[in-house]
Amino acid sequence: MSPVNVLFAGHPDRWPEYEAPLTEALAEAGVTAQVTPTFDDPVSVSYVVYAPNGPYTDLSPFTRLKAVLSLWAGVEDIVTNPTLTVPLARMVDPGLTEGMVEWVTAHVLRHHLETDLDVLRAPGDWTPRVPPLARDRRVTVLGLGALGAASAAALAALGFRVSGWSRSPKSLPGITCHFGPEGLAQILNDTQILVLLLPATPETDGILGAEMLAGMPEGAVILNPGRGPLIDDAALLAALDAGRIAHATLDVFRQEPLPKSHPYWSHPRVTITPHIASATRPGTAVRAIAENVRRGEAGEPLLNLVDRTLGY
Ligand code: NAP
Repeated sequence: MSPVNVLFAGHPDRWPEYEAPLTEALAEAGVTAQVTPTFDDPVSVSYVVYAPNGPYTDLSPFTRLKAVLSLWAGVEDIVTNPTLTVPLARMVDPGLTEGMVEWVTAHVLRHHLETDLDVLRAPGDWTPRVPPLARDRRVTVLGLGALGAASAAALAALGFRVSGWSRSPKSLPGITCHFGPEGLAQILNDTQILVLLLPATPETDGILGAEMLAGMPEGAVILNPGRGPLIDDAALLAALDAGRIAHATLDVFRQEPLPKSHPYWSHPRVTITPHIASATRPGTAVRAIAENVRRGEAGEPLLNLVDRTLGY
């Protein structure tokens, strides 16, 4: 039987980390495959393992492609690619999820406990205070997918009063779930810490804008580990300037790296992290890729397929 050709089209620097584990994962899944970053004949390629920072934007030479398997959870850069004519699966990876849960938990706890206030900087600066408890803090997670649902569950396990919001109805233990445009208005006026874990789609573009910010309580905090376009930056800056929003911790931006001249850099109420909230981990992600190749070859439905009309 001839091997299934799998093209690694992630960033070339990542290939050394993927080569051995991906080859092993495909073998463990029972797939006889050849996986490399180059094939002389594009027509021989059955699966493309894709990242937007990789070498390929034009998929049209791969005329016998069966699926594109994204290394990233966010697929906004590939989903509208006119040369994509086959099913697209996004990355759902336990390592990626765990990383996001840890980033979200760390930054929620930083703002909840106001840990910056307790870091003593001057000798004699001894001003103890009783920190609040999670049970008295209301946190909302927008987006209850792989990452949002896991982050919301971790926050609820710590005792936070957690609400979540998604496009379709959900029922998650310990989380007050809302959905659709009406659901959003219901929870915002009761949200002290807002976590954005929505995908970037035409519908979510600028969703955190003046109207939504005005509906939040004075002193609320925003965390954005989702995508930059979720935020109307001018509206957020105005709310931060006015002190209505106490702080924004931002990991993702409309333009990355964030331009040096951007007002976020010097804003006292903004914390910037360089799109590191979570990363796909080769050790676990290769199993997700191998399982989808196995399914494709067995004629079974692929996991985590993107709905191209919804954009995620
Ligand atoms: P996912 O599983 O596709 O979940 C997306 C969630 O958003 C779903 O709950 C979905 O609702 C909801 N949603 C989508 N459009 C909506 C709308 N118009 N109104 C209300 N809810 C809507 O995605 P994920 O794996 O959790 O990842 C979320 C995002 O995190 C990714 O798209 C990516 O941009 C970002 N991310 C960032 C980093 C980083 O390092 N900063 C790392 C990985 C991922 P339904 O459940 O009803 O479909």
